[in-house]
Amino acid sequence: MPGIHVLEQELANKIAAGEVVERPGSVIKELVENAIDAGAANITVEIRNGGVTYMRVTDDGCGMNREDARRCFLRHATSKIQTIADLYAIETLGFRGEALAAISAVSRVELTTADGENAATRLVLEGGKEIFCEEVGAPKGTTMVVEDLFFNTPARRNFLKSDRTEGGFIANLLDRLALSNPQIAFKLIQDGKTTLSTGGSGELLDTIYAVFGKDITKGLLQADTTLQQVRVYGYVGEANLTRPNRNFQLLFINDRLVRSQTAFAAIDQAYRNELFHGRHAVCILKIVLPAGLVDVNVHPSKMEVKFSNEKLIFEAVYYAIKGALNRRTLLESTPQAEKQPQPAPVKNIPQAEKQPQPAAATPAPAPVVAALERPQPLEPAANGSADYIVSAPPKSPFRLENKSLLREQVSEPIVIETPPEQQTMTLPEPRKSYRYIGELFSAYLLLESGDRLYLVDKHAAHERMIFERLLRENQSGEKSAQELLVPERVALTPEELSFAQEHQAELERLGFDWSVFGEKQILLRARPVCLTGEAAAEVFSEILSDWMRGGDTTLTERENRALKTVACKAAIKAGNVNDTAELQALAEKLIEEDAVHQCPHGRPVLISYEKKAIEKAFKRI
Ligand code: ADP
Ligand code: MG
Repeated sequence: MPGIHVLEQELANKIAAGEVVERPGSVIKELVENAIDAGAANITVEIRNGGVTYMRVTDDGCGMNREDARRCFLRHATSKIQTIADLYAIETLGFRGEALAAISAVSRVELTTADGENAATRLVLEGGKEIFCEEVGAPKGTTMVVEDLFFNTPARRNFLKSDRTEGGFIANLLDRLALSNPQIAFKLIQDGKTTLSTGGSGELLDTIYAVFGKDITKGLLQADTTLQQVRVYGYVGEANLTRPNRNFQLLFINDRLVRSQTAFAAIDQAYRNELFHGRHAVCILKIVLPAGLVDVNVHPSKMEVKFSNEKLIFEAVYYAIKGALNRRTLLESTPQAEKQPQPAPVKNIPQAEKQPQPAAATPAPAPVVAALERPQPLEPAANGSADYIVSAPPKSPFRLENKSLLREQVSEPIVIETPPEQQTMTLPEPRKSYRYIGELFSAYLLLESGDRLYLVDKHAAHERMIFERLLRENQSGEKSAQELLVPERVALTPEELSFAQEHQAELERLGFDWSVFGEKQILLRARPVCLTGEAAAEVFSEILSDWMRGGDTTLTERENRALKTVACKAAIKAGNVNDTAELQALAEKLIEEDAVHQCPHGRPVLISYEKKAIEKAFKRI
């Protein structure tokens, strides 16, 4: 039964294909990595319909002779491993001799290749079976055309995302491959349009410019530090060039894109106190180290790596960034030759450095308050985020049924931990009979009403009011967009861009009108009324990032989260200097509005103390 063997082989290849080939992007990854391994100086990738119907990768690498051209589609056919030891070397890329067998098993493949010595070969395969093979004329190098991916495995085909999403994934991949290999000129053509073109000059900055564009490139600082056998070099963003996620933090180890929690932690530490909470710096860093220091025993498609000396990597990344940031400070400071410590390689992981704390956290005990200096319901923000300094957990959100209960509550002395009911408070009653006392710590409004003292978190209160208004407008279908006089450019990754295009209608409902501008940017033309153009640009990418992470939440949930993000950005912040009239107006509105007094993130808007509790604390009663 000679036929049985062939079938088994075919089936085996199809099954193996499942591991290697998940989507068009995985085909491109394997083909481009093969081209890199072949020593190509120029690699051109062309795709149509997100790669689903057509993919072509052309290189000018070493090519293959006829015999190798036929052999390379066999399982376990590889020129890259001879011994088991080779398996552990990180120098070549991808799966070991599996890729072409897997790809050809689930598509129609045409290979044209020439090694520069023998005549070129053209080979056509369908579902892994050779259809024909001929001699042709072609320059040295290899062209692989892969058509109709998963034509013979319809179940897998159904799992593919939209052409736009698949195309975005490939464009993202090409960006990263180009950044990994600045010495190679890459070109990506999507549906006839060239969307990426790098020069292959070998200069990382040239490639960064080609990939990320002018806006990002001009905000970058050069980094280069060597610590023992580890060199870290590349470009890191100034503190004002931030993103809501790590999409613009790219780490390459020996020119291979990886993820490393250690390196991410080092980046965060280096930018500590420089960035707003939740923002991430832009970093394109190359880590060069002896192969023996990386644990390469990881699945080739997983990018997470481990190091045999994590601490050394942490320090090298940390000092590379600190060095870049310090040099910038040096340049900015006065020419006087002030002695600035260069980032000296220190042995210990730099932890909990003493850094200036934000103003709101500065303890300034005035004599009058001394009596209250026992366990307080309020304490300084511990993490340097100046926005929210109410430490009490936001428990028991206020509900209407609780109202009377709350009023009857007998207050404890102020020095005793505030009961949860006091965290989320009813308004001064009766309405409007209150007195505005002033502002505390540039963060809280003090109000007196009846026999109670109210502390209102000005940011939370403002945020809440904006959120309620946005929600009302959104539900009534009103779109509160304001045209921007000067459109704002927002840099996005290709994946973010294709996601944004798929959710354009939803984003427009929120007040963001925009159009695609080049391959990696959008032009924001209108913004939600309550935001400035710059804030709108930031919020736009924050919302995208949140939605892309968000999984299967409903449209309403997604929209609500987006409205919260808008409200948070639009609201005044703790630490902001606001004039009294503005704050009084805020207090006034808060009293008038009958909304639940929780900020949309679940934190309380106001807390209160009973006069009796204060008197007890002073031992008057
Ligand atoms: P691997 O890359 O792990 O060896 P592949 O299935 O991807 O496995 O490729 C099989 C072999 O085909 C490679 O080892 C290489 O010799 C040859 N090959 C594949 N693509 C190219 C190319 N673009 N140029 C030259 N040789 C190639
Ligand atoms: Mg390969």
